[in-house]
Amino acid sequence: VLDVRGVVKTFGENVVLRGVDLSVDEHRVVALIGGSGSGKSTLLRCASLLEQVDDGQVLLDGEDITDPQVDADAVRRRLGVVFQAYNLFPHLTVLDNVTLAPVRVHGRSRSEATDEARELLDRIGLADKAGEYPDRLSGGQQQRVAIVRALAVRPRVLLLDEITSALDPELVGEVLRLVREVATQGMTIVMATHEMGFAKQVADTVCFLDQGVVLESGPPAQVLGDPVEPRTRQFLSRII
Ligand code: ATP
Ligand code: MG
Repeated sequence: VLDVRGVVKTFGENVVLRGVDLSVDEHRVVALIGGSGSGKSTLLRCASLLEQVDDGQVLLDGEDITDPQVDADAVRRRLGVVFQAYNLFPHLTVLDNVTLAPVRVHGRSRSEATDEARELLDRIGLADKAGEYPDRLSGGQQQRVAIVRALAVRPRVLLLDEITSALDPELVGEVLRLVREVATQGMTIVMATHEMGFAKQVADTVCFLDQGVVLESGPPAQVLGDPVEPRTRQFLSRII
């Protein structure tokens, strides 16, 4: 579904990505791990066209979406993106947050979008919050709404950037449970995360990003349990 090929991204003198390759097959979950500043967010931002790559390509269903000719808005409609925090529009109710893109961008009818949004909210146990504004929800509830909102456009891939790292520890579980459920239903997911336990359980592939490249990738048991690269070992020993 998503193919990152030799992506290079530089901010001034700072070469953040020096040729990143990453291939994500349909229905797969890829966890991106790596130290702070290793470029996980930058990679996700390049893949979602929030940043321009300096070199290399990102293919979505075989189409080079980094080609300047491409309609970036049309591409973004095929992606679901959730960040660490502040994902929801504060001036819109929960329901309006979820229906906004399906109605405005995808041209679905309001009643169809509303029915679907209510169903999604019901699934995450937040049907009764449909009329509330985001600031009346806990951080965990907000993140679950943000995930549901991303799913409402039926994206080809869900890109998640440290979606639990701004949450109080007791709220992390409910968000990760939802991600696991979404993964089980077959969504293709790329997630930058510091939750190694979660990566181990849910990811099909773990990619360790280091000094601008994917230094090591493979099944979680291998990369997290028995890494080949000394730098992966070093990273894991520091965080556990
Ligand atoms: P963390 O685990 O802390 O979220 P990360 O792996 O997501 O880290 P990035 O946010 O991708 O790392 O940052 C990688 C490098 O790129 C950092 O050195 C950062 O300072 C730099 N960087 C990121 N965005 C920009 C920007 N818009 N302008 C300049 N430098 C940037
Ligand atoms: Mg980051």
